[in-house]
Amino acid sequence: MTRLVILGGGESGVGTAILGLKKGFEVFVSDNGKIKKKYKDVLEHIGINWEEEKHSKSKILNADVVMKSPGIPDTVPLIVELREKGVPVISEIEFVSKYTDAKIIGITGSNGKTTTTMLTHHILKEEGLKVGMAGNIGDSFAKMVAEKDLDFYVLEISSFQLDGILDFKPNIAIITNITPDHLDRYEYKFENYIASKFRITENQTEGDYFIYDADDNVIVEWLADHPVKSILMPFSIEKQLNKGAYIKNDKIIIKTNNDTLKMMTSKVALEGKHNLKNTMAASTVAKLIGIRKDTIRASIANFQGAEHRLEKVLKIQHVQYINDSKATNVNATYYALDSMSAPTVWIVGGVDKGNDYKELMPLVREKVKAIICLGNDNSKIVDAFGNVVDLMVETYAMEEAVKVAYKIAERGDFVLLSPACASFDLFENYEDRGQQFKEAIKNL
Ligand code: ADP
Repeated sequence: MTRLVILGGGESGVGTAILGLKKGFEVFVSDNGKIKKKYKDVLEHIGINWEEEKHSKSKILNADVVMKSPGIPDTVPLIVELREKGVPVISEIEFVSKYTDAKIIGITGSNGKTTTTMLTHHILKEEGLKVGMAGNIGDSFAKMVAEKDLDFYVLEISSFQLDGILDFKPNIAIITNITPDHLDRYEYKFENYIASKFRITENQTEGDYFIYDADDNVIVEWLADHPVKSILMPFSIEKQLNKGAYIKNDKIIIKTNNDTLKMMTSKVALEGKHNLKNTMAASTVAKLIGIRKDTIRASIANFQGAEHRLEKVLKIQHVQYINDSKATNVNATYYALDSMSAPTVWIVGGVDKGNDYKELMPLVREKVKAIICLGNDNSKIVDAFGNVVDLMVETYAMEEAVKVAYKIAERGDFVLLSPACASFDLFENYEDRGQQFKEAIKNL
């Protein structure tokens, strides 16, 4: 029997265990942290051996293949040892995609993955196709392939997943954009991170498609030096293109082979330039797989955005509160500020990831009337923006930040939580931060 060892007993690990068992592998799951009860119950129920709070080499080094959770870096000694022994160490998408004939739409990028994945899934679903959405969202890809029979998968794919591929090939690949992120996992070399993102195109062939942001110089320059085999489908909000998606006279124009789709930008449900880009990317996918124009138009108009991404929470005394807790880097916050159409009280801060706030300066000057810092250490934000806005307040808890915002904001203003930082100083994660924001607003 072929031995499949799974490192990491989370959603993707347990999903892979279910699929591996079904495909006749001898499966063992090992996690050096604690495995959640709900996952333990599944493993027990289907009779899979597992261990937690340790990695027993005797049960791991004898693997024929290892599926590693994306959270485990390639540099940990166990992974290095496995690879030295010649054991393939792969990611979930690599393992699972062999077991489905469905068409795969793979979406990666530094920002916009979740939004683009959800919107793409939404359009395909509205057309009535048998489509699943997986990756970093909801059920694992592995579990879906084990339990369902679908024709399309829309996958949100991180660079860590791409680091563990050998043959994985999406029929349609998207890179939404590339800005420096997670560099600690890439020897602090931006080019390593770019190369990792581009692996989404590595196994594509002439019949496949690659959709990307043609306004993103990082992508365009990389592509010039590293051509891909698939058909290029760029999108741009700055220039007109012969092929792909662009904006003209307040319309999104999408040109595929012999056909053109036109849609009014005013009908796009999501706000902000970045979301126009995400909408263009998702609609290009839809067009390429032959979805009817009316369905695409209706779907982009009725799409409900994802939680914690420029999410409108409540209007209180004519002040709109907006939750963009998912903005954990400067680029995401850039687009949030850019889309503010009224004077904004901006709540920012958290764990700084080596942020450079320079590029935000013009937007802050133009749109921000007050800054509320929310973090254990706000010194970098104070230094960067102290002279740029009239009013700056330091706070150390969400409730306090929201109360201060409530006091400052006047009729017609926005209050925006878009932290540009990770959340681990004061919160469990960005979801917790967003929930606490919403709670505090409701309690005003
Ligand atoms: P990801 O899954 O890549 O983290 P999300 O869709 O969850 O992306 O969005 C993360 C953050 O980035 C949100 O604050 C959102 O408003 C912002 N964002 C979304 N799309 C883009 C984009 N195309 N470019 C820049 N920022 C974006």
